[in-house]
Amino acid sequence: MVSTGFSTLPISRVWQYLCRMKISMLCVFCSSSNLVPEHFREDTIALADRMVEERIALVYGGGSVGLMGILADRVLGGGGNVIGVIPEFLCTEELAHEGLTEMIITQTMHERKIEMSRRADAFAVLPGGFGTMDEFFEILTWRQLGLHAKPIIVANTGGWFDPILSYFHNAESQRMVSRENLGLVEVVSAGENVVETLLRRRDPAGTLPRLSRS
Ligand code: AMP
Repeated sequence: MVSTGFSTLPISRVWQYLCRMKISMLCVFCSSSNLVPEHFREDTIALADRMVEERIALVYGGGSVGLMGILADRVLGGGGNVIGVIPEFLCTEELAHEGLTEMIITQTMHERKIEMSRRADAFAVLPGGFGTMDEFFEILTWRQLGLHAKPIIVANTGGWFDPILSYFHNAESQRMVSRENLGLVEVVSAGENVVETLLRRRDPAGTLPRLSRS
């Protein structure tokens, strides 16, 4: 039991309450390509709609290209808040979005990642290319190092991440990655399921869910 000053509560209740953290800002990493197949666009829109419904703001890379632009436009169109974080040298190449709630211009890519991660309550990784994978692995390794403790959800839309998940499991079986660290990522079958997974997230034992293909 712990004394709160007002009443005495079982520790498990206090812990459960603390673990029911509110997700008010989601950082999303995703493709900057305008050429991706339609089903990736549709799933990105589905994620945006769920974010708007649950009043979850978006922080992302600040571009108006690819899935990034589709996501930002849809959240804004639904009345949601969107913060973009973009390095100055990419403002032209990634067509820095001009209609965001807030735009933060950084000097470097690293400052961009730090700023996005500082503001986010959780991370979602949607299909993307090298840049998305860089962001995913950086945020995952920061978590592995204990630099943050925020949820990381991978949206395996159309099986996009299957090769990477195979690598993860192989790395664990060869003892390159510990079983515990394999559990730092939660996998959902599509972007539209990210918000449900975050809202459902109850972690009373203080452990993270195992990597799964739900
Ligand atoms: P991509 O998945 O390659 O389409 O890129 C998605 C986003 O990741 C874009 O906003 C890129 O600017 C960003 N990105 C690319 N390379 C890096 C990197 N090394 N570090 C951080 N972000 C990156």
